[in-house]
Amino acid sequence: MKLISILLPLPLFASSLVELENEVHQDLKFINFPACSWRPENEEICDVVIIGGGTAGPCLAFALQQRGIFNVQIFDEAEEGKEGPWLTTARMLTLRSSKDYPGPALDFPRLTCQAWYTAQYGKEAWEQLDKVPTSVWGTYLQWYKKVLNLNVRNGWKLQTIAPDSEETFILSFKNGKTIKARKVVLATGRSGFGGFEIPSFAEQLPKSCWAHTAEMIDPSNFKDKNICILGNGASAFDAARFALEQGAKKVYMIMRRKELPSFGYFAALSTVGFNLGYFFLDDQERIDIFRKGLELGTPPPFESIELIEDHPSFELLADTLVQKTSFSNDKIFLDTSTGLLSADFLIFATGYAVDGSKQPELSFFFDQIKLWGDQLKGLTGKLSRFPYLGPHFEFLEKQPGAAPFLKNIYCFNYGAFLSHGRISGDIDVIQFGIKRLADGIALSFFLERQHKPVELLCEN
Ligand SMILES: Cc1cc2nc3c(=O)[nH]c(=O)nc-3n(C[C@H](O)[C@H](O)[C@H](O)COP(=O)(O)OP(=O)(O)OC[C@H]3O[C@@H](n4cnc5c(N)ncnc54)[C@H](O)[C@@H]3O)c2cc1C
Repeated sequence: MKLISILLPLPLFASSLVELENEVHQDLKFINFPACSWRPENEEICDVVIIGGGTAGPCLAFALQQRGIFNVQIFDEAEEGKEGPWLTTARMLTLRSSKDYPGPALDFPRLTCQAWYTAQYGKEAWEQLDKVPTSVWGTYLQWYKKVLNLNVRNGWKLQTIAPDSEETFILSFKNGKTIKARKVVLATGRSGFGGFEIPSFAEQLPKSCWAHTAEMIDPSNFKDKNICILGNGASAFDAARFALEQGAKKVYMIMRRKELPSFGYFAALSTVGFNLGYFFLDDQERIDIFRKGLELGTPPPFESIELIEDHPSFELLADTLVQKTSFSNDKIFLDTSTGLLSADFLIFATGYAVDGSKQPELSFFFDQIKLWGDQLKGLTGKLSRFPYLGPHFEFLEKQPGAAPFLKNIYCFNYGAFLSHGRISGDIDVIQFGIKRLADGIALSFFLERQHKPVELLCEN
């Protein structure tokens, strides 16, 4: 077994990074960036508030600047540098996707991770990388924000969005502050529309003895301990590797499937045409595609499997269902369809829930948001709880005319996957989602006739 960690090498050519930054700024000048502002000046009301300073939030702010919209603020509950999963809970050594995708670069080759990495470590070093190390990606995203001068206000956790009128909202944050905004974008990531998927039996267990893979886990939970992991996706394998690295005595991975998924259904479908066109498929077709993708599952990256599959302390228990759990003498007992297991710590690699009623920020109007279950009668379960979004990621009303303000709230998190597909988050295709969203916001402002008086246009 290979247990390795990948560290960012020391930059070889720091001056080349400065050169790259100058070239980025020159490129932007060549295309007359920033575009001229056409929005009314109103310091008190923010045109667009973006919640989430991970990948999507900053990328959207850049896209809005390209469309002449500057009165934009990005907020994130995380501390500076810790936005998104990359430098905290993403335990994989490298990204799961190919290193060649443009990510948030939005058609600017010099804004790619490849350009940033090559400038500092050289072309050969890039060619030697199989995939981008996770910490490298996290550090690159920090540079992306810096070079584009995109400020994130950290330590601001959104709590509620209160419609103030049809046109504006009052956003309340945990730090006690409020912000008035015309449009709100929820770029809140995988857990942004319902949190984590946690089996109901976890309620009987003390929180100190379990965690979801998207939480920070204290490594002291692993040394000489028996660990059970529920789930078989990429995050399950990364958590298993992490536990073994920390000296776990035994790691059981429990999965319901008879075999690990071997066919990447979503990846196979993922042409540019499919990603651009998915939204325009009819409802039933989108449901069929999504349902099939969930049923088939996503294969964990082979490198994540390879790192642990032969470890003597690792065991994959296939075709196994947890039926009952109990807790006594600091041990968890799992009664499974293939026998009784005991563990000191349990990890749920069970993915993300879809349940907007759990999002405090939607509490004032969640009942008025149209869901897929409202659109397709008879649809049940997880798919029915996805929001049924409009063409630019905006929420739609359950009752037409009852909550017109919903068109000004854009859902660019996991909740958008059933309506728009993977373009609302995955690195290979996020650019398509961001452009669609930014176009929609600009269009909506224009159609609301909310622009500067004509004689003042282009007087920046
Ligand atoms: C572990 C992991 C590995 C992944 N690996 C890959 C990969 O290799 N390739 C790929 O294509 N995709 C991958 N993805 C999917 C996707 O690329 C990532 O989820 C990516 O982070 C999405 O970017 P985002 O900006 O939408 O969300 P995030 O990066 O998650 O950013 C969301 C931000 O919103 C903030 N936030 C949430 N709620 C609030 C609130 N109420 N108030 C204020 N701030 C809030 C969070 O603090 C967070 O910083 C991975 C996802 C995960 C979880």
